[in-house]
Amino acid sequence: MKFTITVSDLRQFEYCQRIVYFSYCLGLSRRRPTTYKMEEGSLLHEQVAELEERRSLHSYGLQEGERHFDVRLRSEKLGLSGLLDMLIITSKEAIPVEFKNSSSAEVGANHKAQLAAYALLIEEQRGVSVSRSFIHFIPARQSIEVILEQHHKSAVLLNLERIRHMVERENMPEATLAHGRCTDCEFRNFCPDVW
Ligand code: SF4
Repeated sequence: MKFTITVSDLRQFEYCQRIVYFSYCLGLSRRRPTTYKMEEGSLLHEQVAELEERRSLHSYGLQEGERHFDVRLRSEKLGLSGLLDMLIITSKEAIPVEFKNSSSAEVGANHKAQLAAYALLIEEQRGVSVSRSFIHFIPARQSIEVILEQHHKSAVLLNLERIRHMVERENMPEATLAHGRCTDCEFRNFCPDVW
């Protein structure tokens, strides 16, 4: 039976593969302390969800739709699970929305991987096709549309296999080449190639 990988693991895998390696192979995720930043982020998410309930759907270019918050998604077939910030259901489509507390309103490859993973889970769970999504950047109060194409979803399937392969063989992957990512990394004390 497949072990369950989370959508958050897929996002981290795009950011630095080694973070996912440490989480699984050294069991460090279970010992991770809750930092002030994490607590603050989770409080902000709750506040944004409350505001969202009162906000019109026009910022997503929609006339109608039903919002669902903190949607749990799971697929036994994919061995994947996740907790989506918001799901909008209209008469025509299902649209995943993630809230981000990042100061720069830029959509990265890790965000796309996360949204494509949610799309696969929604498609399986609800039997609808998901072709677009949004990231709502909290500080900028900006909602950016992210189109999800087949290659984004195929990359998710490939990365699920790569993570399983890495964990089962305990193969430590290369460190990220984006050295700036190491500065705030919660695993920098364990990483032999920290920059
Ligand atoms: S310290 Fe740098 S290379 Fe090591 S896990 Fe963190 S981001 Fe990756």
